[in-house]
Amino acid sequence: MRLSRNLLYGTLFGVLFPVGATLLTANNIPITNLSSLIDLHRQTPLLLIIDTASFFLGVFAAFGAYQLDRQFETQEGAHGADELRTLIDTANAPIFGIDTEGLVNEWNQAAERITGYSKSEVMGRDLVESFITEDYKVSVKGVLDEALKGRETANYAFPLYSKTNARVDVLLNSTTRRDSQGGVVGVVGVGQDVTELNSAQKEFERKLTSAANYDVLTGLPNRRYFYDYLAGQLETHQGSDEIGTLLFLDLDRFKLVNDSLGHSIGDQLLQVVSKRLQASVRTGDLVCRLGGDEFIVLLPLEGVVFKQADERAEKIARQITAAVKQPIKVGQHELSAHMSIGISHFTMTDGVETIVTRSDNAMYLAKGDAASNIAFYTDAVHQQLTHQMQVLEGIQEALVEDQFFMHYQPQFNHRQELIGVEALVRWQHSQLGLLLPDQFIGLAEQYHRINEIGSWVIDRVLSQVAQWHQAGYVLPKVAINISPGQLLDENFSTIVNALREQYGINPERIVFEITESADIEHFNLISTVLRDLKGQGYRFSLDDFGTGYASMTHFKRLPFSQVKIDQSFVADIESNADSLAIAEVVLAMARSLKLEVIAEGVETQSQLEILNKLGCTGYQGYLFSKPLSVQAITSLLRRAD
Ligand code: C2E
Ligand code: CA
Ligand code: CA
Repeated sequence: MRLSRNLLYGTLFGVLFPVGATLLTANNIPITNLSSLIDLHRQTPLLLIIDTASFFLGVFAAFGAYQLDRQFETQEGAHGADELRTLIDTANAPIFGIDTEGLVNEWNQAAERITGYSKSEVMGRDLVESFITEDYKVSVKGVLDEALKGRETANYAFPLYSKTNARVDVLLNSTTRRDSQGGVVGVVGVGQDVTELNSAQKEFERKLTSAANYDVLTGLPNRRYFYDYLAGQLETHQGSDEIGTLLFLDLDRFKLVNDSLGHSIGDQLLQVVSKRLQASVRTGDLVCRLGGDEFIVLLPLEGVVFKQADERAEKIARQITAAVKQPIKVGQHELSAHMSIGISHFTMTDGVETIVTRSDNAMYLAKGDAASNIAFYTDAVHQQLTHQMQVLEGIQEALVEDQFFMHYQPQFNHRQELIGVEALVRWQHSQLGLLLPDQFIGLAEQYHRINEIGSWVIDRVLSQVAQWHQAGYVLPKVAINISPGQLLDENFSTIVNALREQYGINPERIVFEITESADIEHFNLISTVLRDLKGQGYRFSLDDFGTGYASMTHFKRLPFSQVKIDQSFVADIESNADSLAIAEVVLAMARSLKLEVIAEGVETQSQLEILNKLGCTGYQGYLFSKPLSVQAITSLLRRAD
């Protein structure tokens, strides 16, 4: 405030000195108005001189002081501007400035450092046009235009490309630059080089993406990765006539490994399987784990015809099943993994979901086909699946409307005496006509609907046996087929006992047939249930012997009292030495374990003779009788005397 003080002193001197002198001279003379003041000065010339002189002196002093102060001010201002300039130039943060036209007018050393462009190179050039990449031009220009309108932006991030074409990520705060009148003259941007910060974040993001895209257990790309990848492929190859091939793979009975041996063994099995998968495909084939025991293999797109694509896919599928099938040792367990593979081809117009569903559907068919385990998706597959859907959806209606019914196939001993009947379910479907068990039992097992049908069967059979009993007929035994899924149901014993009591049936007359193709893991799980029921008098028969995986040791641990030689061995026992040998072994084993034997599917006299010679004592087959209706069986039964 030096300026106003010096001015004030001068002014005070120029005013107060004359006033003081006047008052002193006037002494007792009253000065009431201007004319009396002028009169006093006329009368006293000395006062006039003193007052005039001191007035001008004050004015000059004030003016001089004012001039001095201005000079001082300007000097100091220049010094401040110098300081500011140094500050801007040497600031650690890059500072850019543009005028209202967007041309560079400020470019400090930090800006030179991070961009590689010297100030002289850039001054006067259009900032946005010269230094901002195409994709950011509009948005950077927007920010600067806003600042030119007085609206400043904080922390706006964009990339710059340095003179050496290295990417520099900048975080910018823009400030409107005004002149002393407040008019906008440009924009100053103070930036921060966040390239390194960004690359740390990118690494972090990369890790996140990797966690989201890869399966932790096997290290394979996961479902999400696969879906994105395939969608990307379809998009980039849109319009091309290439053919893609997707293999959908599923381990058979994996759930059993998990349930019976524990998840840790299951996990290790999956790890081995995924390694073998990767080893059996070619470079360029993509292997992913979709989740659980489901995998996919995506073959690279190729401009081939469907026939070639088929051959190629089948070859790879065979390599995979062969590789996976080799025994796998996990801990002390020797496991074998079997894969079912569904294959579908696609064109670039198909959607990801459709492609996966087709291969998945084909895989379900592969599962049902024990011989091959590989299936292609075709129109026939589509029809078959629609048919299966119709079957599955009809189960509820069938139970409510009593569409299931039982046939009974008689069993005889070598003296042609009736020793029992096997209950076989049939279904009179409202649209599809008569269905045999092969058309719906496997499906019901697969989709966990078997317990509903199974319970219905036990109820119906026991009630039928009670009716025969009450009518005075003698039926030595009734055999009921039980699916493994039923034995895994914890209520199985309860249901069976409740029904047996309700109908008053002796458990020793009931034989539960359990197919041998239910594998080892099943046997371990169900052995407790079996022993429990055996203790109560029920009997068990090992059905379809020779077709499954049950080894002799496992078999011996379970409480079977009967074994059924599978009809496939009986069918060619005359011509196939292996079948004959198997029948021989089964019969020898049965003798030593004191088991009953029933040979299934005996159709010819010569089959019967061969089996007879080998010492077989029980028979079932068309040679004796087809499965019969209740009435037909009734007429076969002998009345108790
Ligand atoms: P399975 O237990 O092996 O039953 C014997 C099958 O062989 C029956 O077929 C029977 O009709 C057929 N068969 C009998 N004798 C001969 C013969 O001399 N030659 C030929 N070629 N076949 C003969 P079906 O009734 O179609 O049953 C098929 C399978 O369905 C059964 O095989 C059984 O595993 C299953 N099944 C049948 N009923 C039930 C049931 O109530 N519950 C469950 N879980 N499965 C059942
Ligand atoms: Ca059976
Ligand atoms: Ca059988």
